[in-house]
Amino acid sequence: MPGVVVLGCQFGDEGKGKVIDYLAERADLVVRFHGGANAGHTVLVGDEKYAFHLVPSGILRPATMNVIGNGVVVEPPALLQELEDLRKRGHAAENLRISDRAHIVMPYHKVQDRVEEDLKGRLKAGTTGRGIGPAYEDKVGRFGIRMADLLDPSMLQDKLETVVPIKQRLLQAYGSHEVLDAKAIFREYAGYGERLARYVTDTSILVEAALRSGKRILFEGAHGTLLDVDFGVYPFGVSSNCAAAMASIGSGVGPQAIGEVIGVVKAFTSRVGTGPFPAELQDATAEHLRERGGGEYGTTTHRPRRVGWIDLVMLRLAARVNGLTGIAVTKLDVLGGLPTVKACTAYTFAEERIEEFPADLRVLSKARPVFEEFAGWPDLKEDEWGRLARKGYDALPETMRAYLDAISKAMRAPIRVVSVGQSREATIHLAT
Ligand code: GDP
Repeated sequence: MPGVVVLGCQFGDEGKGKVIDYLAERADLVVRFHGGANAGHTVLVGDEKYAFHLVPSGILRPATMNVIGNGVVVEPPALLQELEDLRKRGHAAENLRISDRAHIVMPYHKVQDRVEEDLKGRLKAGTTGRGIGPAYEDKVGRFGIRMADLLDPSMLQDKLETVVPIKQRLLQAYGSHEVLDAKAIFREYAGYGERLARYVTDTSILVEAALRSGKRILFEGAHGTLLDVDFGVYPFGVSSNCAAAMASIGSGVGPQAIGEVIGVVKAFTSRVGTGPFPAELQDATAEHLRERGGGEYGTTTHRPRRVGWIDLVMLRLAARVNGLTGIAVTKLDVLGGLPTVKACTAYTFAEERIEEFPADLRVLSKARPVFEEFAGWPDLKEDEWGRLARKGYDALPETMRAYLDAISKAMRAPIRVVSVGQSREATIHLAT
């Protein structure tokens, strides 16, 4: 393998953490290539639960190098807190490197995030308020602060003397009373620079050298394709590209570095935040999915997720824009016990059938789902699913396999991983 990209095909929270954790075992390098501390992965190792926001998921394996690529926006206090938590739990995190080109989330970004959200009205994206969007805005606006600036106090001071007054005027124009103190910001962030300096390097060189020497690289996606700033439900998504090609730009290596793209698909759909959701459920089945879904609450936001049936229209878009070579389906156990399981195969709008995911929000918000029904499968306990998983794919209920076949056919990619529980054991990996 040159590089494998693992990413979410829906709205995030697909269970990527578990799939990435498994693949990280075989990887020499794990790279985060986009997003910020607004992402979250949950990894369960034995009884220990780890929630990662900025550090890549291979951090628990000392022999694996973990890279925060240039495509990520870094919130230094959040990262330092995460490293401190890991240290307290016995993980030194010496195997971390951060790109000197990664942009920094500054305190004024958080204020800007909140006031912009307030002013956006119906276009409110429902952000986590962590300043990620404004940090990306500054990156593109070319007055962002980068990791390299944090390590160079005179450069940092220089930049802040220009940027902070601009931000102050912007916030005032927005009607905010927040007063920014450039000197205090400088002191705080130069301090973070000192503490993070040991991890900072030109990670593009590191990733390219690893590729050249035949090392195995795992590119770890955050969020999900339907939150992608180009292909997601714009503007109700995130500020970065989540699609597979971003792995190349966000880590500083050419696209031929990507050999495989594994799309993680939850057996149903869930999302936090606002925006159209054609296959959304509001009934007792919704409660079943939310409660049984291992607590369908966001890893970072803790907000209850909106849930619905699997949406193959969305998933076809995800398969296309990511160029998937394989699919990992998770949380099939959560659907256990339902007499029938549905899949949204198309939408209707103004009496027309829509097969491809529309860009037009007006169409999307009025689109009615067309469902295909599948027979359900039994509700088993975690250890029972684990025992079945050990026996392999053919031991799974026939009805579940029929459902998986329909997903694979719609997405035109083979099923590579099946997950029927939280534990590492409740997972089937199919050979290529
Ligand atoms: P991520 O951001 O895509 O990694 O998703 P989350 O961190 O929100 O993970 C989703 C949750 O689902 C975590 O608590 C996982 O342990 C759990 N999970 C992952 N796969 C499965 C599965 O197949 N079945 C069940 N019941 N839970 C799972």
